Amino acid sequence: MSVAGTARPVIVGSGLAGLWTAWRLAAEGCASLLVTKRSLADSASAWAQGGIAAALGPGDSPALHAADTQAAGDGLAAPEAVRILTTEGPERIRQLVALGARFDRAPDGRLSFGLEAAHSRPRILHAGGDRTGAMLVRCLARIVSNHPLIEIREQTEVADLVLAGDRVAGVVAVQRDGSVVTLSAPAVVLATGGVGQLYAVTTNPLVATGDGWALAHRGGAALRDLEFLQFHPTALKLSGVNPAPLVSEAVRGAGAVLVDRRGERFLRDLDPRAELAPRHVVARAVAVADQSGGAWLDARRVRAFAERFPAVAAVLERHGLDPTRDVLPVAPAMHYAMGGVATDLAGRSTRQGLWAVGEVACTGVHGANRLASNSLLEGLVFADRAARALAGGSRWQGVPISGAAWTRLAGSVDEAHGDLRRELRRVMTADVGVERSEASLVRAGRVLDELAAAAPREAWRTRNQILVAQLIVAAARRRRETRGGHVRLDYPRRRRVTA
Ligand SMILES: Cc1cc2nc3c(=O)[nH]c(=O)nc-3n(C[C@H](O)[C@H](O)[C@H](O)COP(=O)(O)OP(=O)(O)OC[C@H]3O[C@@H](n4cnc5c(N)ncnc54)[C@H](O)[C@@H]3O)c2cc1C
Repeated sequence: MSVAGTARPVIVGSGLAGLWTAWRLAAEGCASLLVTKRSLADSASAWAQGGIAAALGPGDSPALHAADTQAAGDGLAAPEAVRILTTEGPERIRQLVALGARFDRAPDGRLSFGLEAAHSRPRILHAGGDRTGAMLVRCLARIVSNHPLIEIREQTEVADLVLAGDRVAGVVAVQRDGSVVTLSAPAVVLATGGVGQLYAVTTNPLVATGDGWALAHRGGAALRDLEFLQFHPTALKLSGVNPAPLVSEAVRGAGAVLVDRRGERFLRDLDPRAELAPRHVVARAVAVADQSGGAWLDARRVRAFAERFPAVAAVLERHGLDPTRDVLPVAPAMHYAMGGVATDLAGRSTRQGLWAVGEVACTGVHGANRLASNSLLEGLVFADRAARALAGGSRWQGVPISGAAWTRLAGSVDEAHGDLRRELRRVMTADVGVERSEASLVRAGRVLDELAAAAPREAWRTRNQILVAQLIVAAARRRRETRGGHVRLDYPRRRRVTA
């Protein structure tokens, strides 16, 4: 193992939040080292289809966007975080355009805005139809890759934080060749994304294993709101396909409807907004329909499906489905984590030297539930603030750290323990999924304790995932109410807001 590093922040993760942090730091004249588990483009950000929300359209305003965000947050969205998101968001979009991002435009050349569930105005920007995330990541990755102040290390998986006294002073990472390196840093910015792979059915990429939560928790930083998980109502239900291909909300925005096994629409009776009701309402209804024989998305009346949703159309074609002819089998899939590493409004965690941006973080902006297309925006807005705050305090000095031996990392035995992770994913989906109860959570806790006892120390990836699952279960048990993305069958009502 080697110890390396100069006095520059280490950014962990190359989704939109990590890329933007690196770019913004560089724009402020600060160097950084960006490490990422696989390739630069391997992230949930690159998969985002629906788009990015910003109050830029005619008749729209940050105040209207804020009101919709608050409504989705089910009483818990932090007002100041929401204000910042919605007022600073438009400027981040203008910056992206200046950097070369090509958002879709109307024939007259003006930006075009889509309407999505629970947005009161058309405000969703797309790039390349439903390839928004891929286009944005490509644009930023190109800039970041060529920037002299940014060093990028792909295939570098952060496995631990290094502590010096009460502050974070670097990371321990496993490199492409399996060797272990300690990177000292005056600040570590976690941008590791979500936790979807803890669930058997998820839209999240394979890299979304909750590493940032495990790192932060073990490093002594506070986490919050972990019980609030958003399940996407319409992932394609195809056995053995992980991740589950997402059929974007925008398809419902374009007129597709949900039907049960009798071919009847089941959402109209539950919510006046029917298919455009908030995600948790739709996800619960789809879960119930799924358990009673199945749920399907009927997009046969959506005009020009292949042109408007090319990525979805390509996935459907690969699986032998034609949206103009077939109804599409769907089920809820773990999609987005509202909670995470507790941060202030500039990305600082409660542990000195540790920052968090994007999905791994919890600024409180989403409250109990995220408004669709707000997460890419959150990544940009709060990464920008974190980078500016970091740059503002940038008389950095590397904190000397010792090169302790992390031999257990080099000798990982995770591959031999796929059975433990399969069981973890099964129990999280069955007992800590769209609906929970004290009985199901206690059951899940027991299984997770058994898995923890069975996982050897050298299976550190597996152990991290078990730890994160245990943290989610503990949070879900503590919250004895139903709110946003947290549905307790035994506590079906909301409590009075205290947060
Ligand atoms: C299929 C899909 C569609 C979506 N559509 C939309 C949408 O239309 N609009 C919207 O706003 N949101 C959407 N979302 C949510 C949104 O994409 C994510 O919330 C957002 O992209 C998260 O960005 P991020 O930068 O925080 O993390 P990510 O983009 O997930 O990036 C995390 C990065 O961290 C790296 N990493 C993880 N662990 C480690 C480690 N231990 N060491 C080193 N690197 C590590 C990963 O490899 C990855 O590069 C969608 C999500 C999915 C899965």
